[in-house]
Amino acid sequence: MTKPIIEVQNLAKSFGKNAVLKDITEQVDPGQVIVVIGPSGGGKSTFLRCLNLLETPTSGHVAFNGEDLTTLDTKRVNELREEMGMVFQSFNLFPNMTVLENIKLAPMKVKGLSDAQATQRAHELLQQVNLDDHADAFPTSLSGGQAQRVAIARALAMDPKVMLFDEPTSALDPEMVGEVLNVMQELANQGMTMVVVTHEMGFAKSVADRIWFMADGFIQENSTPADFFAHPKTERAQDFLSKIL
Ligand code: ADP
Ligand code: MG
Repeated sequence: MTKPIIEVQNLAKSFGKNAVLKDITEQVDPGQVIVVIGPSGGGKSTFLRCLNLLETPTSGHVAFNGEDLTTLDTKRVNELREEMGMVFQSFNLFPNMTVLENIKLAPMKVKGLSDAQATQRAHELLQQVNLDDHADAFPTSLSGGQAQRVAIARALAMDPKVMLFDEPTSALDPEMVGEVLNVMQELANQGMTMVVVTHEMGFAKSVADRIWFMADGFIQENSTPADFFAHPKTERAQDFLSKIL
């Protein structure tokens, strides 16, 4: 049996009196693509942020590669966090650096790659996201779809074991959604382990191994896409799907 790469056990997270995550126990196996869907405000972003301890759980455990993040010191948490790439709705590129410099920064600073090594790797990644001709551009000159692909390349530059995506296409004009989803699909095809929060149901259907439907602080359903979309079990999911499909 393969060892899970992420294990979440009885995870709960409250902000003051607002219990956002109530009791979540799930696991992600290496190479799996998990798509998390659910209503706005249901705790999806909070959940993703708990996976790499950008949010500290109120209770419960999150283990990465067998190490319980909730029991580790800050130094080790930071090391493990480097193995989890994260891509947000807003691209968060450094505006004063070129595309190439954005991608090279962390590998050089954190991983100790030489300038030449980091440059070579950055060009490989830019080819992967079809943007090598924009290596010397500044972020402000890019379209949203291009900027998000750079953000993905930048996350990949740290050679993460897992990629976390929080609504990566929600801020994009419709005509740019496809180019970003294509890059994500290729990444999935290459075997990357991914946890993706998205409202793109086409992507969920065709790329996800499992759908996690999250609402009211729980994963209400954990199903294959075929099962989830054809036979949602809970009323909560049926209601959600009736509104979006
Ligand atoms: P989703 O991503 O599913 O839309 P979120 O995880 O962003 O949901 O938010 C879930 C709930 O947690 C919301 O009620 C939101 O206001 C609350 N919340 C999220 N982050 C914080 C925070 N840093 N401080 C206080 N409340 C927060
Ligand atoms: Mg969110």
